Amino acid sequence: MSENENILLSLSPAEREEMKKTLWRETMKNTLQCRGCALAESRLKVVFGDGDPNSRLLFIGEGPGADEDEQGIPFVGKAGQLLTQILTAAGIDRREVYITNIVKCRPPGNRVPTPAECVACDRHLQTQIMLINPALIVLLGNTPARWILQTTEGITKLRGRWFEWRGTAVMPMFHPSYLLRNASSKEGSPKHLTWLDIQEVKKQWEAVKATGSISGIRFG
Ligand code: URA
Ligand code: URA
Repeated sequence: MSENENILLSLSPAEREEMKKTLWRETMKNTLQCRGCALAESRLKVVFGDGDPNSRLLFIGEGPGADEDEQGIPFVGKAGQLLTQILTAAGIDRREVYITNIVKCRPPGNRVPTPAECVACDRHLQTQIMLINPALIVLLGNTPARWILQTTEGITKLRGRWFEWRGTAVMPMFHPSYLLRNASSKEGSPKHLTWLDIQEVKKQWEAVKATGSISGIRFG
């Protein structure tokens, strides 16, 4: 890592923690006041993120739906409740991870965010990722998978594989709302594959917690 790549690393642990808290508060304030795209006109609440900003495991969804827009918290509606259930079933407490979205404001009618909206919101997401400094990132559905990995490949091809991205290990998974529309849980179904994927995430997260490193992960 070059000298200036992460200024936080040149500080003592206590200074780093203080600096991170300050920068986190600042980016949250900026994001909550953002008027960087037209979604600011129609949103009720900005949805910054939820969970532990010191977690090494980060989940990224697409954007807030109606429930999230009302409450200002990501993944609290039907799809969110399913995500929480999947995490719990795999032995992951949602409060021990961090959860956010590509766009922080609800696209009207829950449409997919436009590339321009993703661009406008990217500085908020990138600042979050820089400050969280995750080891593992889970991308929920096509929008975050394509945005982060800069690919046009679909989620069916991407899911269940680890990709190396800026020193982190990234795993695309099906979006929980897709699982709600595909109820089957027989072998090879999206639900079944997601169950395999989250167990792999859990396994690697335990390894990260034990070793601090992603060196055991096989990419591709
Ligand atoms: N779907 C998402 O992608 N994000 C949320 O926060 C809720 C539903
Ligand atoms: N489309 C998405 O955005 N995500 C899925 O998981 C499936 C289809």
